Amino acid sequence: MTMSTQTTQTVLVTGASSGIGQGIAIAFGQQGANVIINYHSDEEEARETLKQVEQGGGKGIVCKADVGKEEDVTRMFQEAIDAFGTVDVLVSNAGIQKDNAFAEMTLEEWNKVMTTNLTGYFLCAREAIKIFDKKPTPSPEDKAKGNIIFMSSVHDIIPWAGHVNYASSKGGILMLMKSLALEVAPKKIRVNGISPGAIATDINADVWQDEEKKKELMKLIPYKRIGVPEDIAKVAVWLASPESDYITGTTIYVDGGMTLYPGFVDNG
Ligand code: NAD
Repeated sequence: MTMSTQTTQTVLVTGASSGIGQGIAIAFGQQGANVIINYHSDEEEARETLKQVEQGGGKGIVCKADVGKEEDVTRMFQEAIDAFGTVDVLVSNAGIQKDNAFAEMTLEEWNKVMTTNLTGYFLCAREAIKIFDKKPTPSPEDKAKGNIIFMSSVHDIIPWAGHVNYASSKGGILMLMKSLALEVAPKKIRVNGISPGAIATDINADVWQDEEKKKELMKLIPYKRIGVPEDIAKVAVWLASPESDYITGTTIYVDGGMTLYPGFVDNG
């Protein structure tokens, strides 16, 4: 993938104090972007992200906000406007897991995951669309005036026992992404998803830091390696660039083949 030289983008990344979000913020920094680095609780790591964004040649601010709270989200976008005048790209990435057997799952565990992973994506996307709507609509020959990228998961199509709340939220993101993409395409706003497979971050550290569990996980990855945040970050940068301008309403699976029915690798 080639990255085109383009005018400075202003990019808001949620959950950017760790893992995939941190990797994405840094990758946009390397493109010279202005990056709004959202974090929930770890200010120190958010500042580390900012340091690396600046080292890469970008500019940025850190912004504490809970993406599941409407007032936090509207304030965050206002802070973005105050700092950089607009937003060109939203990467809605903040997400959590609260796993439990279905019969044991509490309403709190269900609601917490839905509020962060699905309602949070709705709230952030809505504020982004309002900002994009203020820009004049380009002619059909011109490039998009705004881009939204939803960080989903292979579990938007792979069912996941013991994680029904998480898989339901990611399945919801798939239809949120497609329906919104359809609604705003005539305004030249693009909306896409990235669905990672297994990427080594905090969210699944219990798996990739344990040799036995890692061996089991490898059976699900035909390409035989766990991903790293940079694998996702490169796709996000490209998906937000004019290079991918004709893509909207699509999910890119970045999963080392996890969605290829790995059980059939040796003839089934
Ligand atoms: P992570 O735990 O490192 O990152 C999640 C981030 O979201 C954290 O920085 C956390 O503070 C933030 N966050 C949580 N609740 C929040 C809230 N209410 N408001 C704002 N921020 C909040 O894990 P990650 O792997 O980097 O996850 C990033 C995204 O990628 C998630 O949506 C996750 O579902 C998705 N994903 C990850 C994997 C993987 O294998 N790591 C696979 C598929 C999808």
